[in-house]
Amino acid sequence: MVRTRFAPSPTGYLHVGGLRTALFSFLYARQQQGSFLFRLEDTDRNRLVEGAEEDLIAMLKWAGITPDEGPGVGGDYGPYKQSERLEIYARHAQILLDKGHAYPCFCSAERLEQVKTEQKAQGLISRYDGHCRNLPRDAGLTRIESGEPYVIRMKIPENETILMEDLIRDKVAINSEQIDDQVLIKTDRFPTYHMAVVVDDHLMRITHVIRGEEWLPSFPKHLLLYRYFGWEPPQFAHLPLILNTDRSKLSKRQGSVSVEDFRKEGYLSQTMVNFIALLGWNPGDAQELFSMEQLIERFSFERVGKSGSVFDREKLNWMNQQYIKKLSPEELWDALAPYIQTTPFAGESPDRLKKVCQIAQNSLTQLKDIQNSLSLFFEDRGSTLSDPVLIEFLKKEESRVVLKAFLEQTETLETLEDSNFAEVMKQIQKITGIKGKNLWLPMRYAITQVEQGPDLHLMVGVYGKNKCRKMVEYALGL
Ligand code: GLU
Repeated sequence: MVRTRFAPSPTGYLHVGGLRTALFSFLYARQQQGSFLFRLEDTDRNRLVEGAEEDLIAMLKWAGITPDEGPGVGGDYGPYKQSERLEIYARHAQILLDKGHAYPCFCSAERLEQVKTEQKAQGLISRYDGHCRNLPRDAGLTRIESGEPYVIRMKIPENETILMEDLIRDKVAINSEQIDDQVLIKTDRFPTYHMAVVVDDHLMRITHVIRGEEWLPSFPKHLLLYRYFGWEPPQFAHLPLILNTDRSKLSKRQGSVSVEDFRKEGYLSQTMVNFIALLGWNPGDAQELFSMEQLIERFSFERVGKSGSVFDREKLNWMNQQYIKKLSPEELWDALAPYIQTTPFAGESPDRLKKVCQIAQNSLTQLKDIQNSLSLFFEDRGSTLSDPVLIEFLKKEESRVVLKAFLEQTETLETLEDSNFAEVMKQIQKITGIKGKNLWLPMRYAITQVEQGPDLHLMVGVYGKNKCRKMVEYALGL
C-alpha cells in the first residue's frame, strides 16, 4: 500500500514549491489508492512563524489536497506533529548510541566556530573535525551525567561510496568523506530534521518520499540512517527546481511566490493546481488543461523532468483566464463576491452586479480585475476620456452626426436595453446613411470610453437609457 506525505516546517507561508510537493504526493497516493499524510516538522523552534501552520493547512484545503492522516485529521500513526514526538526520537537516538553509530559531542559553539574559521583559512570545506568522535563511551557518559551540554552526532563511515537511487534522477554515488557528522539531537533535546524525518517516515510507513531537489544533499545521510537502524528505505523522488524566467531560483523579487498571495490576487484553485502540476511533470502530449481527476489518472514519475522548470506568469494568467471563462454564472458570482465587497459598488443591486460579472467574465485574468470592470460600469467617468486617439475620432464630424442621432432617437424611448439597442442603431444608420466602423465606433468610444472592452450591447443594457445618454453628451461636449 502506497503511503506518501507532505512534511512542511511551519517556518513560513506555503510557497508554490511546497504546493507542488504536496500535490505530487497527493496525486500519486490517490492514483495508487494509497494514503496521503500531512506531518508538521516543527522541531526547529527558532524558526517557527506564527500562523504558518494554519496557513499551510488552509492553503492545502483550498487547493483540494486533502490529507488522509495528519494533525486535526487523526490516523493510526500519530502524533503527526514532530514536537509531540520527542520521546520517540530520544529512544531512537539511544539505539544509535548503543550500536556505536552515534556519539555525544560536547564541543562548544565557540570551538566549532574556531574550527570553521581555520578550515576556511586553509581553503577546506567546513565540517565537524571529529573532536568528540572517539571519546571513550564511559567518559562521555560521565560528562553527560555531570550535566554538561551536548548534542548527539551521527558517525559517518570513513571513505565509503554511498549509492543513491531516485525515481526521477539517475543513480548517483557520493563518497562519505564529503558528508559531515550530522547533529541528530540538539542541546535542547529536540531532534534535527534529519533524525526526525527518517524516524517518522519509517514509523509512519511511508513508501515514497517526494520532496524538492534542495533536499538532495541530505539524501545520503538519510540512507545511512536507514542502514544504521536496519530499516528498508522508502523510494525517493526529488523534484526539479522551480525557476524565474531568467532561470534563477524562483524568488519573490519577480512576483508572488506564496500560495496565499496568488489566492488573494484572484487565481482560482483549479488554475493553481493545473499550473503547478505542469512545473516539472509533462503529460507527453499537447493537452494543457487538466482537472484534479485527470491529473490523478495521468501522473507518473517517469514524466517528471530533472531540469528546473520555469514559472511562467504569463502562462499562469492565460490559464486562469481559461478557468474563469468556464465558470457557471453562480460559480463566477461566488468567486467574485469577495472582490466586489471591498469596492464602493458593493451596494449596487445584485442583479446589476451579476450582469457586470457576466459581461466582464471573458476579459478577467485575475478575479481582482473585476474591480476595474466595476468602476468602468458604475463610476461617472464623464471627464476621464483622455486617450487622444479616441478623442480625435469622437471629434470627427461624422462621429458627431451619429452621436447626435443617438440622442434624438433615444429621447422619447421609454427604456434602453441590450435588446432594443440594435434597433436604435439600425434607425441611426437609416437616417444618417453612416454604417460599419463609422457608425459603431463612436458609440463604443462614447459609451465604454475604451478602445476595446466589454460587449457594447450588454454594457448599454447595464447602463440603461439615462447613463448612455449622459455618456454620449460628454462625448459631444469634447
Ligand atoms: N520539513 C522539510 C521541509 O520543510 C521536509 C523535507 C522532506 O520532505 O523531507 O520541506
